[in-house]
Amino acid sequence: MNQLQMVDLKGQYQRLKPEIDAAMQVVVESTAFINGPQVKTFSQHLAQYLQVDHVIPCANGTDALQIALMALDLPAGGEVIVPAFNYVATAEVIALLGLTPVFVDVLPDTFCIDPAKVRAAITERTVAIMPVHLFGQCAPMEELMDLAIAQELFVIEDNAQAIGAQYVDAEGNTSFAGTIGHIGTTSFFPSKNLGCMGDGGAIFTQDEELAAVLQQIANHGQQKKYHYSRVGVNSRLDTLQAALLDVKLGHLDDFILRRQKAAMFYDAAFAELEQVKIPTLAPYSSHVFHQYTLQVPAEQREGLKAHLQSKGIPSMIYYPVPLHLHEAYAYLGYKASDFPVSEELCRKVISLPMHTELTQDQQQYITDAVVAFMKV
Ligand SMILES: *Cc1c(COP(=O)(O)O)cnc(C)c1O
Repeated sequence: MNQLQMVDLKGQYQRLKPEIDAAMQVVVESTAFINGPQVKTFSQHLAQYLQVDHVIPCANGTDALQIALMALDLPAGGEVIVPAFNYVATAEVIALLGLTPVFVDVLPDTFCIDPAKVRAAITERTVAIMPVHLFGQCAPMEELMDLAIAQELFVIEDNAQAIGAQYVDAEGNTSFAGTIGHIGTTSFFPSKNLGCMGDGGAIFTQDEELAAVLQQIANHGQQKKYHYSRVGVNSRLDTLQAALLDVKLGHLDDFILRRQKAAMFYDAAFAELEQVKIPTLAPYSSHVFHQYTLQVPAEQREGLKAHLQSKGIPSMIYYPVPLHLHEAYAYLGYKASDFPVSEELCRKVISLPMHTELTQDQQQYITDAVVAFMKV
């Protein structure tokens, strides 16, 4: 059995090597490393896949969030609501742009932002909500969009972890995660579900005017060659990455199926364990399992992690500390117990290896180790 990893990038590359190498070789030969034709082709293919009108490629998922916020011309000091249980990037860009991150708690079962808490956090200064489709599942977008429309707020979806996930509304209509709010963003960081061989990101919108602004900001605020209509940034997706991503996009549905199959194997193996809570599937979303995250009693988590480690099984704590308790955000004045659900999740969650190359043997070995520890 191969060495176990949280994400097996090498195994995936080996499996797709001929196709990937051929696509990248074309770019190498062309030397069109910046803004080569593959960037546009990939953006168009991704737009078709996601059924969204505009895809603006950029350098990474954090830039995508920053550019999205810049495009909305929000007033300085405006409050932007984000989940406390999350990766730091979403809150960071708010703070960087002179806006105020307002943290709210998440839903205990799906880990995504809690609409009731969003509603309670809205003030006269609130300008936007940034839901995060955490671990591969959509936040409750319909409730959030209803709130946003009623209160005239912008919605930017951070879809770095759930590309290809589908939201199902009350009428049964489906939309892809990242295409429901005013703007959606994603990351092509290597370990993301659609990952490249370095950094990459993209921004989505159905709004033509916003698309033009986003495009300008990502390119130094340039309206036409050497004419700048606003202060922008330099944020590009490399041609090599775009060529690779175009190949991988063709496999995204298969990647998702492989992750879902691996999740089903885990679910079945842990179903009988009273002390282990398997991921909850929201009725309004498919789950693309960026992470497979269990909740275990806080007092057992370190023991489980050490037990797995002793068997050569990696695991990760996503996330050990909620955003409101980091030193960087102390200036906002939050304190422990402000967001009890997020704080409890930080004590209980543990993520297991989850990727497209997991074999049955590997999964059996992992689940046996978890069961052996958690049964006693
Ligand atoms: C990965 C990630 C980002 C940032 O993406 P980068 O490409 O690393 O900048 C932002 N938000 C979330 C939720 C992420 O998981």
